[in-house]
This record gives sequence, C-alpha cells and structure tokens, in this order.
Amino acid sequence: MIPETSITFAGSFLDRADALRTDIPKLDEHIANPTSKTLPFWQGKPLFDLTPDGPRLAWLPVTDDLITGAEIAPALLGLDKDGVAHFAADVSYIAPPDEKPAEFVDKRTLDLTETRKFVDLRAVMGEVTHEDAGVAASAKGLFEWRNTHMFCANCGAPNTVAPGGWRMDCTNEACKRAHFPRTDPVVIMLILSSDNVLLGRQSFWPERMYSLLAGFMEPGETIEAAVRRETMEEAGVPVSDVRYVVSQPWPFPASLMMGCSGKAESMDIHLDKNELEDAIWVSKDEMREALAGRNDRIAPARKGAVAQIILQSWVDGIVPGF
Ligand SMILES: [Zn+2]
Repeated sequence: MIPETSITFAGSFLDRADALRTDIPKLDEHIANPTSKTLPFWQGKPLFDLTPDGPRLAWLPVTDDLITGAEIAPALLGLDKDGVAHFAADVSYIAPPDEKPAEFVDKRTLDLTETRKFVDLRAVMGEVTHEDAGVAASAKGLFEWRNTHMFCANCGAPNTVAPGGWRMDCTNEACKRAHFPRTDPVVIMLILSSDNVLLGRQSFWPERMYSLLAGFMEPGETIEAAVRRETMEEAGVPVSDVRYVVSQPWPFPASLMMGCSGKAESMDIHLDKNELEDAIWVSKDEMREALAGRNDRIAPARKGAVAQIILQSWVDGIVPGF
C-alpha cells in the first residue's frame, strides 16, 4: 500500500467547505476579511516564495489591490483549522511579471523579487511540500477548467463564474445550464511478467526516458478494461489480472491518474508505432539502478510523477507482483 502522503498533489490542509461556496453572505464576509489569504495565479502559474528550504506558496491578503483588481472574484479553496478562508485568484490581467508593461495592458503589477515569482507548478513539483502541492493542484485544475469553458456546452452562450468559483453558469435565460469542473480519468499501469516491467516511450520524450504505459479511459469502460485495452493497443500485450494501486491528481490540465498493476500473459511485444516509439521489458534490478540514476539505457522517471512513485514502490517491494 502506497501512503497517500507520498503522492504529489494528493491531499490538502484545507477543509473544502463546499457549503460556504453558495452561502453568499458568509462568503462575502470572508472576501472582505483582510486575514483571509489568497494565492494568486498568473497565466496558470502560482506565486511562490523561493526559500532556502524550497519553493513555498506565497499567500496575499484577499484585500490586496492585486486580488481586488481582478475581474473575477477569488475562488474559495477552503478553511484551515483556525477557520481562516483561503482563496485563489487568477491575476493574469496584470502585466507580464518579467517584462516592462506595454501601453495596452494593465500596469498594475506585483512587487516581484528574485525570491518571489510565478513558477510553473510542474517544474517544482518535486520540491514543494506535500500540503502546498495539493492546494496548488486544486486551484490550478480549477482555473484550467474555467479558462477553457468560457462558453456553454449546451447552447454556446457565454458562461459566468458563480460565487465561490466552482461553478460556471450559462448567461442565456432560456438555458441557464450550470457547469461543474471536469476531471478526465487516465489509467497508468505497472504491467508485470514475473520480475519484469513493461515500459514504453514516445518519440517526443527526452532521450532514454521510458515510463509506464498510460491512456485515457473511454465512456462505458471500467478501469480494468481500460488497462487491458491500452496495454493491448500500445504494446500488443494481453493482461489477465488488474489491481488498483494508487491515484494522483494531475491538473495539466484535468487528469486523474489511476495507477494499476496488471499481469502480462505474454512477453511478446507487438508495438503500435502510432502510439509508442518503443516498448521494452525491464528487470527489477535494472529498474532499481535506473531509478537511482545509474543506468545507461533508461533515464530515471521524473520525481513526483505517479509513474516514478509506482515504479519505486515496486522495486522496494511495497507494490506486490503477481
Ligand atoms: Zn447555455
């Protein structure tokens, strides 16, 4: 069993307090309260303080000019154990932080320093704390969804963000459809044949990088069926037994990675070159060396990604074989 605390982007130190999202008078009180905290996002990047201990989320008071200047009210992420409300706000309206403001953009900007910057969450996912990662992933996924669902999928009219930030409402009176954030399930699988694991690579990946096979689930499919189908489609390997292992939110832009293990019925690989550039069987000993960065054939998986966590757990004996 892999502990949830070892999964990057899983968990949060906040109570999501979903009832508060629709309790407008109480929500407004929190939005007017200068002790409420807000995490600004610019172009999908959260604000970080780059401390000697690593990047830490930089929270601003909800009453900060930067937050109140945004067109859309901040989204409620939840309450901490002291009842302090935590929000996230999309402040992409400000001038690019690294550039001199042009005439046509809002000149308000943040007093960014060498140690306070908007940083791509994926670039620092191996260095942030478990708690920060979970909260940032939630907000990142929410904003990714909002930014790509500006129009009603039912009638095409513009959507507006509902108070609390977790719903989009169609502005067409004849429609008024409410829209909620979507999550796209992806299966990622540890396919084993005794002490060997099946790895694949795509042509655009960095040289020597191999990882677990993965793919999006389709409507009407179970997790088990998706694991069998994707493994057959990509590598031509039949799988007889599928077990759930662990999951990871992956808000780039909206995936939920569902890690599974599966028993290969054959080691013959029939590669679909449209899906993968290569697929190989790797022994547990070689995988252990690769994860430690001591293998010439395979580059270590990216720290913090669920593939790396599952593979490391397998070589450490935490995830059993078949
Ligand atoms: Zn509509």
